[in-house]
Formats: sequence, C-alpha cells, structure tokens
Amino acid sequence: MRWMRRLAWVLKSVLLVTSIVVCVLWMRSYWRADWIRYIEVSGAGELITRKISGAGSMSGCVVVGVSRAFMTGVGAGDDLREEFGLTGLSPGWNARSRPLDSSGLRYYDDDSGWGPVRWKREISEVLTHNSGRSREDMQYVRVSDWSLATVFGAWPITSSMLSARHTIQRRRRARAGLCLACGYDLRATPDGTGGLVTRCPECGREA
Ligand SMILES: [Zn+2]
Repeated sequence: MRWMRRLAWVLKSVLLVTSIVVCVLWMRSYWRADWIRYIEVSGAGELITRKISGAGSMSGCVVVGVSRAFMTGVGAGDDLREEFGLTGLSPGWNARSRPLDSSGLRYYDDDSGWGPVRWKREISEVLTHNSGRSREDMQYVRVSDWSLATVFGAWPITSSMLSARHTIQRRRRARAGLCLACGYDLRATPDGTGGLVTRCPECGREA
C-alpha cells in the first residue's frame, strides 16, 4: 500500500501547513483584522438588495458570515451609495486589512454557541438618511484559532512525534545489540561462533 502511505504523507503535510497558517493568523489577529468579502447588488429603484459574503480573521477567531441589506423607498439608491462611501467597499471582491479596534470586539458581543464555536443572527431595521428604510439580516459563525490549529495539527504532529520515537528506539536497540523489532537481547542466544544470531529467537526478525 505504497500509494496510501504517500497519500497520508501529502494529507499530513497539507494539514500541518494549514495549522501553521492558522497560528500565524492567530498571532496577527490580535492587532489586525483581515477580511475578504464578495459583494453583490441586485434590484433597482425603490428596492435594492445588497449581499456581503465574507471570511475574516480577528481577535483570535476565524469568522465566516453573510449580511443581506434590503433598502427600500425612494432613497434606496442613495442609501447604498452612502454605505459604500462610508465603508469604502464596492461590488465584487474586496480584501481589507485594518488595525484591530474596539468595533472588532463589539462584533462578538452576546453571540451564542458552544465552546470554541460561536454564532449569531441579527435582524435590524434602520431608518436611513435618504428617506429610505433598510433592513439588515446578518449572520456569522466564528471558530477560535486555537481550536482550528489543534484540529489541523493533531494528526501530523502526533504522527511525526511517534515516528521520531520509533527511530530513537531502533537506534538505541541497535547500539545495545537488541532485536530492532521487539527489543529481545540477541546476545543472550549465542550462535556458537561467538557472534550474534542472525534471526531473533523471540519474534523471528532477521537481525
Ligand atoms: Zn525480536
């Protein structure tokens, strides 16, 4: 099963690299918030829908979320332009990085969840400046970086620790004249010529 061992090696490498990337993001997330968002606008006139799908890293978490805003009324178009003006975002892909401020922590206020996995859904009605009315439906899931790093890193790290232990043990056995497979003392069984036996009498491994 050579291909299986190779597949396992590739998987372990990918997981290890992912775990390292998460750790780097983790450290960074305490002074910078990084986001990648995709923004779609549909509708026109007095009913405009703006959808933001995004993933981000901040305050020790990875966040995935969607926000839909429904802007209605004669000022809907102006509301949308105002929002884009204030946030600096625009339809399509947006990548942003900014210093972490208190708004990042407020974002996580009173979300519900279990352990390192938290979520929130918030629907809010806003009366906007341009005689429009906007309703926002926002939901996200966030997962702590430490738990992601542990999940991704567990298998590759324990597996390489076990194989390092295995190598050290074999080296020690070879030096001490013990069977490499089972640790049986090969010197205890003379082969009659003063050398070591060629086959382990305990497990049958060729010495
Ligand atoms: Zn043996």
